[in-house]
Amino acid sequence: MPAITNHMPTAELQALDAAHHMHPFTTNNELAERGARVITRAEGVYLTDSEGNEILDGMAGLWCVNIGYGRTEMADVAARQMMELPYYNTFFMTTHVPAIALAQEITKLAPEGLNHVFFASSGSEANDTNIRMVRTYWAEKGHPEKTHIISRKNAYHGSSVGSGSLGGMSYMHAQGGMPIPGIHHINQPDWWGEGGEMTPEEFGIARARELEEKILELGEEKVAAFIAEPVQGAGGVIVPPDSYWPEIQRICDKYNILLIADEVICGFGRTGNWFGSQTMGLRPHIMTIAKGLSSGYQPIGGSIVCDEVAEVIGAAEFNHGYTYSGHPVAAAVAMENLRILQEENVLDHVRTVAAPALKTALESLTGHPLVGDLAIEGMMASLPLTPHKESRAKFATDKGTVGYICRERCFANNLVMRHVGDRMIVSPPLIITPEEIDVLITRARRALNETHAELKNQGLLQPAS
Ligand SMILES: *Cc1c(COP(=O)(O)O)cnc(C)c1O
Repeated sequence: MPAITNHMPTAELQALDAAHHMHPFTTNNELAERGARVITRAEGVYLTDSEGNEILDGMAGLWCVNIGYGRTEMADVAARQMMELPYYNTFFMTTHVPAIALAQEITKLAPEGLNHVFFASSGSEANDTNIRMVRTYWAEKGHPEKTHIISRKNAYHGSSVGSGSLGGMSYMHAQGGMPIPGIHHINQPDWWGEGGEMTPEEFGIARARELEEKILELGEEKVAAFIAEPVQGAGGVIVPPDSYWPEIQRICDKYNILLIADEVICGFGRTGNWFGSQTMGLRPHIMTIAKGLSSGYQPIGGSIVCDEVAEVIGAAEFNHGYTYSGHPVAAAVAMENLRILQEENVLDHVRTVAAPALKTALESLTGHPLVGDLAIEGMMASLPLTPHKESRAKFATDKGTVGYICRERCFANNLVMRHVGDRMIVSPPLIITPEEIDVLITRARRALNETHAELKNQGLLQPAS
């Protein structure tokens, strides 16, 4: 058997990739023509590609590599667990030590009352679990008609049929028959993009009240749950106005519905607390977790469930689960990740060093002619680009054109920043140092300058009328 190695020429790897590998969220035929960037190794906050470039990963992979790359302890734990028990399931009245230990550890870190974990291998799977769990909960309580779930436009909750339906991405709903019935989307609390003439506080209240309106429209007796990310990630790091979450919590308390906090990005330190719900002052009944749970070293996710819901679900067989629910190797690796986060005081580092440094550094970019604003919560931030700051104008050209140009300029400067429409996103490993943040900002500034020059050349600096 020939082995694929990192030492094959880049062009050969790209040709094989184009011939056989279908990429997620990609126009594959276009990628085949230009060739994918091949990442060969990583250490700390730096990736290395097949051409030997050292790239600062300002996105922590996909918002997940919280402890950074190259931690040998994680590999050691995985190897040991594979020798001892590489796999066993948790169906049919069996269990194993890694799943027990991880469930206990997660619930120790979770807010009070959230004492139960249902495992999955990803955030998408966990949110599919949540759909079935909240509906089953209400059915078991004698309210089988309480099935509707309210979510938000531009939310991201995963890419399976269920979780993609919970999500509010219209370009995803356009393909493959989503959303499934019974999911409703209210507007998001994006003041920069949609706030118009309102103050952020007025706008936060107005957007929260849409939840109440939707509950009243559907009828409280039909609504099972509301799901939201404490801070929207893939939607563009949308930090809601301060008035938003208290009003949402008031509405959830008033009406008899469950609150699901999707903590897949916010969880495990990204906002400076273990969970974004703590940062935002929420009291969810269920929290979705994945990504930072294992820092991406193994695929694992799950739902952290409150006592009341677990108790009711536990009364009958819950006909749901995954072959890899609580996978022993993934669970052992996640345990090691949680050990590292705790013993190395990574959350303290976020709160006292990294997040303040990132904020100060990014603030220095807000003077740039293209940067309209800075939204930041802990270690997740966005810089909306605009041709006219005062009016928060959008570009006349198609949405995302400018963001895409800027992302390409970032790549060319050995920096990974992502674009969501025309917002530039930063979400680096939590262990990033102030010196590394300086490198990030230097490269980002260069990319912004090059973007500005390119927009000028192409006549793309026009605001939409
Ligand atoms: C990434 C993400 C998901 C989906 O997780 P996968 O592991 O990709 O299935 C769900 N919710 C949020 C908030 C996410 O950012």
